[in-house]
Amino acid sequence: MSILVVGSVALDSIETPFGKHDDLLGGSATYFSIAASRFSPVKMVAVVGDDFPEAHIDFLKGRGVDVEGLEVREGKKTFRWRGRYVGDMGEAETLETQLNVFEEFSPDLPESYRETEFVFLANIHPALQSQVLDQMRGPRFVAADSMNLWIDTELDALKDLLPRIDALVINGGEARLLSGEGNLARAASRILEMGPKAVIVKRDEHGVTLFSSGGYFAVPAYPLKEVKDPTGAGDCFAGGFMGSLAREGVVSGSTIRRALVFGSVMASFAVEDFSLEKIKPLTPEEIYRRFEDFKSFTVF
Ligand code: AMP
Repeated sequence: MSILVVGSVALDSIETPFGKHDDLLGGSATYFSIAASRFSPVKMVAVVGDDFPEAHIDFLKGRGVDVEGLEVREGKKTFRWRGRYVGDMGEAETLETQLNVFEEFSPDLPESYRETEFVFLANIHPALQSQVLDQMRGPRFVAADSMNLWIDTELDALKDLLPRIDALVINGGEARLLSGEGNLARAASRILEMGPKAVIVKRDEHGVTLFSSGGYFAVPAYPLKEVKDPTGAGDCFAGGFMGSLAREGVVSGSTIRRALVFGSVMASFAVEDFSLEKIKPLTPEEIYRRFEDFKSFTVF
């Protein structure tokens, strides 16, 4: 089954202890789509300017990503993000955000997108995430990401969205900020009270933890000896997660657990190089080998 994603498509400039690169293909919807399309067809809703290289659009198309919903605005510039990671690279320091085309983005879904069964609302303004949901006809499973910026500045819009989604995918710091609770289990309970059926907490090198009324599940992070660029890890996690779920076509305890492992597999590859360099050439065998590794880490 297909997945619809709305989010950012960006040109990123990134600095880590492993190097500095300008104008890399990035954005939450991009990372998500490239990871998810390894498992299921993806329909993208986003906006870029006329400075966005045609080669990037061809690359997305080549990966089977439907770009009918990718608006190209004439005379406008693509969203740009400049970030830096230092030390253990735990958190990105945003040096510059140029909203450009995003300042006036108002998603209008192509008719062919509206009945998509799996929906991922990647990190953008929560009112825009709701605007996308308003145009969908009864999706089967909706997950959303968010960030500190929206929790701090658009809390009411975020709280309007939460009862409408099945799963909120956020990192530990964001879960604490949203709930006002320092303890993660308490934070998750508070967020579940706000409406989503499940909370998936991304915890960097500690892996990912699922809290829901149906129970608790945790996947460790893959023990990587070298992380070059953490950008997009969360979106690639979400891509593997939603991709696997849509491929199975059934939402149950066991398909969600498998999806959490495929999400962890894709995130582990994403951080091993800049932009999508490591993800691009991956073979299905490499993906499955790492999935089997996760199995061996967690069975006892
Ligand atoms: P992540 O590392 O998962 O947080 O995602 C990084 C991606 O998010 C980068 O490729 C950026 O282009 C994109 N990004 C950064 N800030 C924003 C923002 N305010 N809104 C939407 N996307 C953003």
